Amino acid sequence: MPTGTTGSGVILASYTWEDDTLPWDSLTEADRIRNALDDLATVHGQHIYNEFITGITHSWAQYPYSGGAFSMFKPEQQIELAPFISAPEGRIHFAGEHASTSPGWIQGAVESGIRVAHEVNDLPNTFANE
Ligand SMILES: Cc1cc2nc3c(=O)[nH]c(=O)nc-3n(C[C@H](O)[C@H](O)[C@H](O)COP(=O)(O)OP(=O)(O)OC[C@H]3O[C@@H](n4cnc5c(N)ncnc54)[C@H](O)[C@@H]3O)c2cc1C
Repeated sequence: MPTGTTGSGVILASYTWEDDTLPWDSLTEADRIRNALDDLATVHGQHIYNEFITGITHSWAQYPYSGGAFSMFKPEQQIELAPFISAPEGRIHFAGEHASTSPGWIQGAVESGIRVAHEVNDLPNTFANE
């Protein structure tokens, strides 16, 4: 372990999508981990083989209970469309990763949910005097 660090940690060694996933998908779990370790060793040195404790991989393409997608803007689209995507339409407010500053990520879904909660909470109470 490098000087000055203690304990163990976790590293996301590869986050791969689109056609780049195909070579990984065809490998066994053990070979995926071995490939990731080899890549890490190229960057950080051979000592990572000794420090490695355990690893896991996950292929969403091979997972039977998931599907779907997320928004992916083309260049300039996010700047151009964002104000309209997240603008309320009457009493309807829009949350979701696509209506955030981090489209395509859970971070964006949470961020937009908080925004919409504030929008709704900050509405004038039209029932107060009824
Ligand atoms: C394969 C894959 C891997 C991903 N990996 C990561 C990752 O590693 N890290 C990360 O940050 N993000 C990841 N994402 C993206 C992340 O999952 C999304 O950004 C996030 O889930 C979006 O949340 P959301 O609430 O906006 O939408 P969703 O999670 O899609 O929720 C929308 C919900 O609305 C429901 N719904 C749809 N239509 C109707 C209707 N008419 N009536 C009622 N309900 C309806 C749907 O069933 C769904 O439950 C991944 C996405 C995919 C597809």
